Amino acid sequence: MPLVEIRNLSYRYPDGVLALSDVSFAVDEGECVGLVGPNGAGKSTLLWHLNGLLPERLREGPRWSSEGNHQANSHAGVLRVADMELSADNLPAVRRAVGLVFQDPDDQLFGTTVREDVAFGPLNLGLSADEVRLRVDAALAVVGLSNVAERLPHHLSVGERKRACLAGVLACRPRLLALDEPTANLDPRARRQLIRMLTQLDCAKLIASHDLEMILEICPRVILLDEGRVRADDPTESILRDEPLLLAHGLELPASLWHGR
Ligand code: ADP
Repeated sequence: MPLVEIRNLSYRYPDGVLALSDVSFAVDEGECVGLVGPNGAGKSTLLWHLNGLLPERLREGPRWSSEGNHQANSHAGVLRVADMELSADNLPAVRRAVGLVFQDPDDQLFGTTVREDVAFGPLNLGLSADEVRLRVDAALAVVGLSNVAERLPHHLSVGERKRACLAGVLACRPRLLALDEPTANLDPRARRQLIRMLTQLDCAKLIASHDLEMILEICPRVILLDEGRVRADDPTESILRDEPLLLAHGLELPASLWHGR
């Protein structure tokens, strides 16, 4: 049984934009999968679905899981996480299984200290104060932010704010980490630190990114999305070496694969 199973998922925003069209794939426990595609491909929309962040889907109940005829509905298809079909009833359990880290840390951070921010998720899980403290300390240590735990999040650098967001999600011990452009706006050292951290995490990862070098380095498998459709789902090198495929979908060959051209 895969950790994530998506079958024939389609989604149209209320204003009529078809953001996902007949998307199907699965992610196994512990797998690390890159999600690539041009701007507007549907990557963020897909990640938000995994965390139940599109509430109109959940309000509509049974239509969430209706298969077929996806063009007629604003949404259709099957989305299962950790053996649970996403619905209003099991939304809290799905959110425990999936940790979503937004592209912009300022969409995620709101505490008055980094520690308070990182504690928010575990507190919401109903854990004891001792367990929360243990988890927060462990997560801050993993992302290398123990020394700034008492600082105001908005006084940190963008790299530190991104790591604080990651700590908040890790403190909830998700089975799937869904990351939206984790290396965007990072300087080379902060990017390298983040990559090293990601490689050390055992949970499954679905990483949406334009940083194809990072994807090449840490994801054995890539899903290429364009205009809401899965255009390829293959081992990373076979996709990232395929220049015609990349160019057809608004991407470029990563520089490290240029030799021999
Ligand atoms: P990506 O993350 O790959 O850049 P998005 O998931 O952000 O792609 O967007 C997919 C499509 O959905 C785009 O056409 C975008 O304009 C549209 N879209 C994204 N968010 C909204 C929204 N809140 N309302 C309407 N359309 C949206």
